[in-house]
Amino acid sequence: MRIAVDLHIHSALSPCGDSEMTPNNIVNMAYIKGLDVIAVTDHNSSENVGAVMKLGLEKGIIVIPGMEVQSREEVHLLCYFTGLDQTMDFQEVVYKNLDGINNPGFFGRQMIMDEHDRLVAENEKLLIGSTNLSVEQIINQVKERGGRVIPAHVDKRSYSIISNLGFIPPSLDIKTVEVSKAGDMEKLLREYGFLKRYHIVRSSDAHRLEDILEREFYIDAACMDVSGIVNSL
Ligand SMILES: [Zn+2]
Ligand SMILES: [Zn+2]
Repeated sequence: MRIAVDLHIHSALSPCGDSEMTPNNIVNMAYIKGLDVIAVTDHNSSENVGAVMKLGLEKGIIVIPGMEVQSREEVHLLCYFTGLDQTMDFQEVVYKNLDGINNPGFFGRQMIMDEHDRLVAENEKLLIGSTNLSVEQIINQVKERGGRVIPAHVDKRSYSIISNLGFIPPSLDIKTVEVSKAGDMEKLLREYGFLKRYHIVRSSDAHRLEDILEREFYIDAACMDVSGIVNSL
């Protein structure tokens, strides 16, 4: 089944996310753009995922619970789960391994919202920082909870597994990597031929509403539900 996706979207919980990235605005924009499946992947937190999932159900859009975790090597990893419980359980692990307090005036506000876009609280942790978890530890923690990890924006010169580690260690159980929306696939494959062995997902990494994808990138999944899609990654 060919499914139009955008699996990398930041909400207003990410300090760098626009304040207009509310649960309702994200789901409504995905609906207008005709997407089948989205994922909300805030930096080191999933506290807006529940609200977006509720709204997705109403609009007929599948919302994959996710998080973009920053490892201690400063590698961004997209973590996807089959349910909210597993995601919240993983969030506990991330929070225990995250130091520092956010400075909203400098990094931006970190707004936790409900399904009516009401401000529930502001997250006070330094979500923009690195966790104390290694790439390998993150992958193991996600796997233990039945989830999947996709290294984010491998075409970028910073915060990517290739830029920071130089390669993708074969010992890591990774099948899929993300290339950013504007990434030049031909150039990337010329430079890093080993990427031919991986499935490629392309996402927006949207921090503003207008950056959410149209129906432009697709994945194949056996069935159209959260588990089917996560297991295909
Ligand atoms: Zn990133
Ligand atoms: Zn991101």
